[in-house]
Amino acid sequence: MSSTTPTKPTSASPRKGSSSASSKKSVKKISPLEEKECDPSLNIIPEPSMNAIANYIRSNGVKRILVLTGAGISTSAGIPDFRSPGTGLYDNLKKYSLPYPEAIFDISYFRRKPEPFFTLARELYPGSFRPTLSHYFIRLLQEKGVLLRNFTQNIDTLERVAGIAEDSLVEAHGSFATAHCRGRIVTAPKSEDEIDATPLRDNETDSEDENVQLDPGCGKEYTQEWVKTKIFAGEIPTCENCSGLIKPDIVFFGESLPERFHRLIAADFHKCDLAIIIGTSLQVAPFSHLINMVPPQIPRLLINREIVAVEEYSSTRGFDFVGDRHKYRRDAVFLGTCDEGCEKLAELLNWGEDLKALIERESKILQNLQSGEAAKSIAEAIGEAVAVSDAKEEEELIRGMENLLKEKV
Ligand SMILES: [Zn+2]
Repeated sequence: MSSTTPTKPTSASPRKGSSSASSKKSVKKISPLEEKECDPSLNIIPEPSMNAIANYIRSNGVKRILVLTGAGISTSAGIPDFRSPGTGLYDNLKKYSLPYPEAIFDISYFRRKPEPFFTLARELYPGSFRPTLSHYFIRLLQEKGVLLRNFTQNIDTLERVAGIAEDSLVEAHGSFATAHCRGRIVTAPKSEDEIDATPLRDNETDSEDENVQLDPGCGKEYTQEWVKTKIFAGEIPTCENCSGLIKPDIVFFGESLPERFHRLIAADFHKCDLAIIIGTSLQVAPFSHLINMVPPQIPRLLINREIVAVEEYSSTRGFDFVGDRHKYRRDAVFLGTCDEGCEKLAELLNWGEDLKALIERESKILQNLQSGEAAKSIAEAIGEAVAVSDAKEEEELIRGMENLLKEKV
């Protein structure tokens, strides 16, 4: 990391060679590095390592940890990351002939052409994936009573599957857990005199074509299961009341983030005693600004494949792993996969065995749940099979169901 030492545009550049005592006398404005040499209390942690964070947690009785997570914690579950070239989700969207990749999550495009989103949703839908070690590490923090909140950018609901309580969770970009009737586009009357120039509601303007209007729909709520049944049957889910489009409550481009996100930023950040940032490139605003809301003397640990969010010319924003820009030395980094980082931190805290036991227990529960679902569908199919009079045909059906069970379990 020392190779990333930034060049500062001011005269306050770090002077590593000079002793702290002499530099204090001869230079009016001393650098943040020199300040830290003079005043050890500015070193919240001695070095930018995970070890230092683990020691800090143990010796300071940390119990209000904020965890900020991104797509990286779900990649080992098999969920494609949105941005990685080649394997990223956007790269795999070519088959949908979208005008531009992000269109699949664009509210205006979705209203006109919901098919690509729902085709993709079938691939992404919760239930097909299992939580990762990283998800269970956050659950472990909850079990230990030290999780203040998990702010996640992910929409895969694996936090919920891992048993992180809804109250401990802020799904900044929404989730598939619920869905609502969002109305539909209607074509305006053909006669120009009859065209209604009323602006579209709900801030979802449509500047490209003024001849369409938005019928905002009735707003009825639908469950994840209801939507899932529809889309797995190859249907576009539409409202039972008003035939509006049903959209899972994930935040699309052009939509506001949930009110809960803003409310809990205000409630949580000022009182956290540690922030752990896992598996995010911190590129999408406003989520990317969250690290700047952690108070300046509170330590932050980044667990990621690469260093992100270093703002070289800022004395307050971004991470400062070198300690030569910000007032306090409080940032640490673990470079590697999210699961490796979380596992290592658990071990350093002597929670390694607890984490293993938790994962084992939860995996069994999930497996039983999935077996239960498979058994249910087999029972239903056998119910149909007994109605078949031909014994041979019945035998074949049951054999088919047994194979299905093997696949599902
Ligand atoms: Zn409706």
